[in-house]
Amino acid sequence: MKKIGVLTSGGDAPGMNAAIRAVVRKGIYHHLGVYGIYYGYQGLIEGKIEKMELGTVGDIIQRGGTALFTSRSEEFKTEAGQEKAIEQLKKHGIEGLVVIGGDGSFRGASELTKKGFPCIGVPGTIDNDIPGTDFTIGFDTALNTVIQAVDKIRDTATSHERTYVIEVMGRDAGDLALWAGVAAGAESIVIPEKNEPVEAVVDRIKRGHERGKRHSIILVAEGVGSGVEYGKQIQELTNFETRVTVLGHTQRGGSPTAFDRVLASRLGAKAVDLLIEGKAGRMVGIQKNQLVDHDILEALNETHQPEMSMYQLSQELSI
Ligand code: ADP
Repeated sequence: MKKIGVLTSGGDAPGMNAAIRAVVRKGIYHHLGVYGIYYGYQGLIEGKIEKMELGTVGDIIQRGGTALFTSRSEEFKTEAGQEKAIEQLKKHGIEGLVVIGGDGSFRGASELTKKGFPCIGVPGTIDNDIPGTDFTIGFDTALNTVIQAVDKIRDTATSHERTYVIEVMGRDAGDLALWAGVAAGAESIVIPEKNEPVEAVVDRIKRGHERGKRHSIILVAEGVGSGVEYGKQIQELTNFETRVTVLGHTQRGGSPTAFDRVLASRLGAKAVDLLIEGKAGRMVGIQKNQLVDHDILEALNETHQPEMSMYQLSQELSI
């Protein structure tokens, strides 16, 4: 293998830049030519490909977002789109591709591999919803963003004796809400994996109120439904003033934490190692602090499960 490519795809996540930097520098360290593909799979189809040098990825390790930009591409989901993508890669002499993204991007990488083009997936998403890895790049940064927001809301919640519903990202996975709930000491955590009846949440709020609690914070994962609707329900059932904050895309941004930068550097470099070893259709991950790799499709067929013992813990600590 002499030339490899790297792209970011789907939802962006803090730490993607650190992963791009690791792929480029590790590739050059091993005397490979490394090509950056801009705007994800759509950019690949359109040939937005540039040679990366050591300096191209200078000064990005600390930045959120992705210096290669990202996109969603319907065209890439078609056979014709995938064939165009492979033609572009071949035109540049690229023989292997690192795809940094979430599960949708991994399915794309798997399609290219099935068509004979070797791809390796690097999990980058704030949702932490990829099976086969304990953590995805961006999750820790998003988590820290969420708890900073919850800490601030807690100040005003206490001052006004209000109930606060805070909607947190996570389409299918409750990890962000779960971890943030434990880290910020929320009274209730509502996640898709454990759809606690609203009545149980209401009971907990009322019990807290009776023992003199001045506020109640409920973290709701967006996968459960609208935080605004949930807040209305809580207000109706408790008669306590209830406010809703939707944290939205603030959770996607910001300078990556040390944890995410280190994780991204390790995973990006591991992906290059796998390509050099001639592997294809694999995803890299971290399990028990060891770098691992799995067949992409087998991993995606598994169901991601958050650490549910933490849910139990949060209930025990918020009695
Ligand atoms: P994420 O990677 O963050 O989950 P998406 O689900 O939007 O984001 O996927 C990113 C892109 O990956 C899509 O826009 C599409 O181009 C490609 N993709 C998603 N699913 C498939 C699939 N089943 N086959 C081929 N390409 C796919």
